[in-house]
Amino acid sequence: MAAHAKLYQIEGIVLGRRDYGEADRVVICLTPQGRMDFLAKGIRKTRSRKAGHLELFARAQLLVSRVEGSWDIISQAEALDLRPVLQDDYTRGTYARYVAELVMRFFEREADPQLYELLDRTLSQLEADEDPELLVRWYEQRLLTIAGFRPEWHTCVGERSGDLCELPLHPRPADTRPYGVDPERGGALCDQCFVALRTEPGVRSLSPSALSWLQALQSRELDELRAFPLPEGTARELAAAMQHYIAHHLEYSPATFRMMPKGRPNL
Ligand SMILES: [Zn+2]
Repeated sequence: MAAHAKLYQIEGIVLGRRDYGEADRVVICLTPQGRMDFLAKGIRKTRSRKAGHLELFARAQLLVSRVEGSWDIISQAEALDLRPVLQDDYTRGTYARYVAELVMRFFEREADPQLYELLDRTLSQLEADEDPELLVRWYEQRLLTIAGFRPEWHTCVGERSGDLCELPLHPRPADTRPYGVDPERGGALCDQCFVALRTEPGVRSLSPSALSWLQALQSRELDELRAFPLPEGTARELAAAMQHYIAHHLEYSPATFRMMPKGRPNL
């Protein structure tokens, strides 16, 4: 090790990995200090002691050496939570890939302990949750808030003839006219604004049931939501509305969207 290398300890969650050189790997981690990319030397050799501790989605304690003008190199790694289910179960692993991809796409380097905690909690819960689809919908709302793209689901974001609408939205199952989702304006539209703006690019219809679920997902804790039945049709509509909303703000459609189960999986 070079004389000027500086050692430091940090905890991280593995978001992604890619091969580098003959036997090394770049390990992309979210840490409480933000996203950090490390070099794990020799990790693809069969006798590497680090390899088993740096699996995808694992939370690990890292000893890292900082070398000026080079990668920070992982000297030692010890898994604190390996999350083997996310490696072995294809469906849960697919949701986990989506959860990790959103972090990588929405965040660059900024430190955010709240984001770290959200990711850690979501991945841990994904290992055993009975309804990972609902968990992921709940996660999206929190992630968007931390990323500064909090959707407005409770007040109409529409404008007509230059005036902001700002009508409070109280969707009821008996409502006969659809609401709207407008990613550009950052939230939901009342039925009248939806009619006025429906030809604009990006504006889509939203059923009263889907809108009330979006409101609940944003303002309630996950355990509270489990008490309410989520019909399959509404679940699909929520997935489509959030994919649309997220793709608009990322200006990119995450690759993992296409991999996710259509509808709720049998687990
Ligand atoms: Zn309106």
